[in-house]
Amino acid sequence: VYTNPIKLENDPTKTIGLVTVIEDVTEIRKLEKMRSNFVTNVSHELKTPLTSISGFVETLKSNTIEDEKTKKRFLDIIDIETERLTRLIEDILTLSEIESSQHRVLQEEIFPTNVMKEVEEMMHPIAANKGIALSSKIDMNLPNIYGNKDWFKQMLINLADNAIKYTPHGGKVLLTGYKKHHNIVITVKDTGIGIPKKDLPRLFERFYRVDKARSRKVGGTGLGLAIVKHIVLSFKGRVKVNSEEGKGTEFTVILPIKK
Ligand code: ADP
Repeated sequence: VYTNPIKLENDPTKTIGLVTVIEDVTEIRKLEKMRSNFVTNVSHELKTPLTSISGFVETLKSNTIEDEKTKKRFLDIIDIETERLTRLIEDILTLSEIESSQHRVLQEEIFPTNVMKEVEEMMHPIAANKGIALSSKIDMNLPNIYGNKDWFKQMLINLADNAIKYTPHGGKVLLTGYKKHHNIVITVKDTGIGIPKKDLPRLFERFYRVDKARSRKVGGTGLGLAIVKHIVLSFKGRVKVNSEEGKGTEFTVILPIKK
């Protein structure tokens, strides 16, 4: 709330009234807070691998380690943390690009069946490597949708990648795609570790992880689902999650056919 005096035009020393302006700043404050939290989180997330890298580099430079095996182990850690840093930066850039172009999204013609098949093929070796059976049930003639094709693909990759990451050896991941009313519906279902009920409402927030240590161990950045949410929004769609701890998780994406 702020109040301004109104002065007489020919005699600015005289105040003839007051104007009070009431502006709702809750939304602005909320956005400011979110932005500043994001910067704090980003700095923290970048610092963690950097601290580890510089620590191990210093140790190696000091020439105090003679054992070749230990040296190799340190180099491997540096390698892993460098990769992690790269992934983090890539995810931060992707998220920021999607967010900032929400009002002028590329409108390419997308054939969902083809892209889903491509992603299935691409993820197959990753699943097989972990002893996970990846399969699909995709309608052959899903209607076209319009939007950014790369983003659409990225959304599928992130969901399939999570399903594989959070499913132990011997589990299953199923991709489905079908048409329902004026939407296409995509589901990614796994028989993995599941997500506790209390974590579900915050799952799509940036850097939110159910278990930070576990996410780090499987190479997560904590941004995958935030990216999914923003991509779904760019298609004016919705994303839902159903999960049971110890049993599995199912993500459902609903995208309107006509915009
Ligand atoms: P991360 O990079 O940590 O995987 P995401 O944003 O992709 O970050 O996911 C956020 C969190 O949601 C993960 O840390 C994980 O705890 C949980 N999660 C996401 N997908 C699944 C899944 N399919 N099964 C179990 N937990 C999941």
